[in-house]
Order: sequence, then structure tokens, then C-alpha cells
Amino acid sequence: MKFLSTRGKSQVENASEAIVKGLADDGGLFVPEKFPDLSKDLNKLVEMDYSQRASFVIGSFLSEYDAVALQKGCDNAYSKFEDGDPAPIVKVDDGFYIMELFHGPTIAFKDVALTLLPYLLRTGADFTGIKEEILILVATSGDTGKAALEGFKDQKGIKICVFYPSEGVSDMQKLQMCTQEGENVKVVAVKGNFDDCQTAVKKIFNSNEINQKLKEQNVILSSANSINFGRLVPQITYYFSAYCDLVNSNEIKVGDKVNFVVPTGNFGNILAGYYAKQMGLPVGTLVCASNDNNVLTEFFADGTYDANREFYKTTSPSMDILISSNLERLIFEISNRDATKTAKRMEDLKKTGKYDISKEELDKLSLEFYADYSDAEEGEETISEIFEEYGYVCDPHTAVAVNVFEKFRKFNKNNQQTVVLSTASPYKFPQSVLKAITGKTEKDAFKSADRLYNETAMPIPQQISSLKQKERRFSGEVEKDAVIDEIFSFIKK
Ligand SMILES: *Cc1c(COP(=O)(O)O)cnc(C)c1O
Repeated sequence: MKFLSTRGKSQVENASEAIVKGLADDGGLFVPEKFPDLSKDLNKLVEMDYSQRASFVIGSFLSEYDAVALQKGCDNAYSKFEDGDPAPIVKVDDGFYIMELFHGPTIAFKDVALTLLPYLLRTGADFTGIKEEILILVATSGDTGKAALEGFKDQKGIKICVFYPSEGVSDMQKLQMCTQEGENVKVVAVKGNFDDCQTAVKKIFNSNEINQKLKEQNVILSSANSINFGRLVPQITYYFSAYCDLVNSNEIKVGDKVNFVVPTGNFGNILAGYYAKQMGLPVGTLVCASNDNNVLTEFFADGTYDANREFYKTTSPSMDILISSNLERLIFEISNRDATKTAKRMEDLKKTGKYDISKEELDKLSLEFYADYSDAEEGEETISEIFEEYGYVCDPHTAVAVNVFEKFRKFNKNNQQTVVLSTASPYKFPQSVLKAITGKTEKDAFKSADRLYNETAMPIPQQISSLKQKERRFSGEVEKDAVIDEIFSFIKK
């Protein structure tokens, strides 16, 4: 299957190239030439386990990948999740389900894609004839870094170097990264905030001189960030899987529509739901939930995307984003795949921080999406309310989604079943969750986790409890100008 750029000036012949390149040469994002139609396959998918569903859904885009090897790749990736299921569904109330995407190696939903990406990338690189060693560079504000490290550790022919801002990741996130095991990994704290860190890494990607020097040492750069199609495609599976699980537990019949509520940052997760719908999954409304950084809520309300606003640091940091990169793919679709229009809008965004869509396009979006946000106070209240009412403990990102679900419920006149996506374990943010449930503050992350366990009896994941004993392999911090030296000293090893 061919992949086109959203900006129209570039295309590649297959998924392998799209995954290896990450970004199209014209700066656009790769989109499949067309969406495979799986509407006739739902009954078949219902009978399968998660890993089989994954290889079926993913394989429908990756025609050049060997089906048996892809199945093996999926089996291997998803065996790393509790009970081999990356997306179990919990029934909270009538018509209200939570899909828990946090039972993987790093207890955040990014594991679903990043456990499989190494296989997709390695196979894609072999297919396109790449002989060099691949160096993955990641700038992270928290969850992506750890999930990428865990996914790529000890993968042959691949090295990974993660940069995180010394100010701005949570205690647990920092500990998770600094204790990372594996021979091919490196973790560096960069003095400054996330923007400093990201800018330093982007400079390296964009420098011909550095790329040339790396090539002389038999190394090419690649990225694992959420605009890569290889990150997006594994996420489509769990929308199908949730639907099939609801059929299997007799909550719905094949053909019924289901809504999904998604706590959104870079728009990758919810876009995968939109793609599932294009592929024939009976999706009702896609609900886009934001925190105080509610640029998307306003976009869906009035058709203007305006990133010129105050940036808030919230208790749901993975959603603290003003430029949602994957939205470009949605804009491309609703303009009837008009690449010229999309390129112009992205140019406007770059120049002025802002762009508009037409009234007609906005009307189209309103038929498929509902968007709202939850402020800091509402998020905290939601954690305590849902615990009081249902005994369910959720993290601050999921709380944003649950709060927006409560707002959406009033509009859901046709009584469709709704699945809220839960994106992180509450134990990844124990201080915030403890405060929401007990009203008390505890600075220390491990003490907070213990107290949270005493309050809720929700088991502490081994990924958290084992952190205490783990050796800290990476310490210290560097200036942003020193990022490049760190990379060269790492690849020489
Ligand atoms: C990354 C992340 C999100 C946001 O997902 P997007 O695909 O960027 O919209 C939400 N919650 C958690 C916990 C995350 O790690």
C-alpha cells in the first residue's frame, strides 16, 4: 500500500518506508492511500484474541510484511502485558465502560504501540535495505521516553537515547527512566524545560552535517514519536478489540454503535479511533477530552485552531500540549484529502500559531466528534467521586476523560454504550491521586503509593514497587549545547 504526505509533495511505495522515515520529505505526515474496509470482518475478529486482532488490523495496512512474522511480532509484544491483554474492559456502570490501556511494561498506554514499534521498524528497515545501525532519538516530557526505552532495549541493530528536561517530569517518571536496563540505551537529563530539550533534539535531526558525520560511523537517525505511522497503527487495534469484547460479553450486538472518550494531547490516540471508524468499525461519537490546555475544545467548537494562549502545567502532564501534531491528519481527511489546503493551514500555524477550517468542514466534524475539557478542580473531584461511587481508582489523565464523559452523557440521547480510554495507572501519579481521594498531601512518591494502597486496596504494580531497589544507571544533567557530544560518545561505545 502506498502512503501519501498530508502536504502533497511526497509519497512512498509502502508502509516500511513510511515507518522508517517517520516524517515525509515535505514536512507532512504519512497517511495510507486508502483505508482497508474491515466492516465484513467483525464477526471474524470477535472470535480472535488480542494479538490475532492486532496482526489482522495492522496487517491490512502493511501488505509487504510477512503475515506469520507479523503475528509473531504481535505475540511477542503483547505477551509483555498482564494476562497478554493490552486493553481489558471494565464495566463501571450501565452503558459506561473503561478500557484500561496501562497494564504494560511502563504502565502507560504508549506501551501498546511502543512494544510493537521495534519489530515494525526493524522489519521495515530490512525491507528497504537499510544496513546501518539505527539510532532512535527521543525528547520526552515523561511517558514516551520510558515506554520507548523499554520497547527498544536490547534490540539488535538499534540504539536508543532519551533526553528529558531536568525540570518537568514527575518523580516516578524520572526514576523509571534513570533505572532503565539494557546495553543499547542511554538517558540524559537536559538542563531546562521540555521545549529546550525538544529544540536541541530537533536541531540534530535537521542538521545535514551531523547526519553526514553519523553516516560515516554507520549510523542513521530515526524517531519514535507519535506522528510516526508505526506508532499510530497499533493503536487502531484496541478500538476494534473493545468493540469485539463488548460483543462477546453480550453488552452489544455486531452493528450497534459505540462511543469512545479519549484523554487527548497530541491527538494520536483519538485519531486511531477515527481511523478505525473509516475502516468500518461502528463508532458513534468520538469524544475529545482536554485539560486546561483546551485548544482542541475551542477548535471543535468554532473551527479555529489557536495556539496563542497561556500554557498551563497541570496534573495531567501528558496532555499539556498546545500543538497537537496528529490533528494534521484529521484536517487532511475532512478537507477531502486536499493537500494544498492542509499545507497552507500548517504554514499558517507555523507563522501565526493559528488557522481556520470552513463552516462546512466544521459541520462535518461535529457529526463525528464531541469535545469538552475539564479544569484542575473538576479533575480532582472526579477522581474522588468515581472512587466513592464505583470504587474505581483512576489517574489524573483518565479523570479528565471521565469528567468530560459526564458532560457528554447529557447529550448522548440515543443511549449508545460508551467506552472511556484509561491511559495511565494511578500509581504513576500517586501524589495527585492520593490528594484527590484523601485531601492530604504527601510529597514522597513511594509513601504516597503506600498510602494510596491502604486507602483503596488497589494493588501496587510491580513496575512501581521494584523501582525502589533498582540501580540508578543514569545521573547528572547536561547543558543543551552538550546534547550532541552525548550522542557521539554514546555511539562510540
Ligand atoms: C500520551 C498520553 C496521553 C495523550 O495521548 P495523545 O495520543 O498524545 O493524544 C494521554 N494520557 C497519557 C497518560 C499519556 O501518556
